Amino acid sequence: MTPSTALSAVPAPASVARLRFYYGPMDCGKSTLALQMNYNHRRQGRRGLVLTKHDRAGAGRVTSRIGLHLDAVEVLDELDLFALAQQHGPLDYVICDEACFYTEAQVEQLADLVDRLGVDVYAFGLASDFRTRLFPATQRFFELADEITRLQVEVLCWCGRPGLLNARVVDGRLMRTGEQVVIADTDDVSTVRYQVLCRRHHRTGDLGTPAAEPEAALPG
Ligand SMILES: [Zn+2]
Repeated sequence: MTPSTALSAVPAPASVARLRFYYGPMDCGKSTLALQMNYNHRRQGRRGLVLTKHDRAGAGRVTSRIGLHLDAVEVLDELDLFALAQQHGPLDYVICDEACFYTEAQVEQLADLVDRLGVDVYAFGLASDFRTRLFPATQRFFELADEITRLQVEVLCWCGRPGLLNARVVDGRLMRTGEQVVIADTDDVSTVRYQVLCRRHHRTGDLGTPAAEPEAALPG
């Protein structure tokens, strides 16, 4: 390999596939953007695949909070994403929703897709879990991705500050320990839910007044 410096003129290939990771808290529109991106690529005649895991609607579906939805491949832990793309190929792009829940090996398979097959990968996910720690897959994206983008759609804490962190709320209290992934049930008897908070209120555990938050309507 020829050594290069910041000043050396290395011409970039006209079109080069990239591994892109977009992250933000819950409700910031990640799934909406994923679906919009799929629509845009498809309209240009590009061939793609949409993947998801633990979507709020259940297996094999990407749904956004503003009402859009699309059938998708559910990413189980054993699924080899490189082999999957080869089966569906040739592909121009792959869109990965809820990518924070994939395995680290699957993130590496996505990087291989970019490098070996020239497939553009657009991955969307949360950065950190309810303890404010990075998900393992997210960390791997931070290490490997060509582009990392923090989504700028503003989600607000109940106090009005920018909401940056995801809180797990069980029986009305913010949890600081437990399994990294617990999917909130959508049925009414569930006592597990998630709420976006600013850093200050994540650290103090102050969830604000329930009346200020429409989804906080729980029995008791
Ligand atoms: Zn706050």
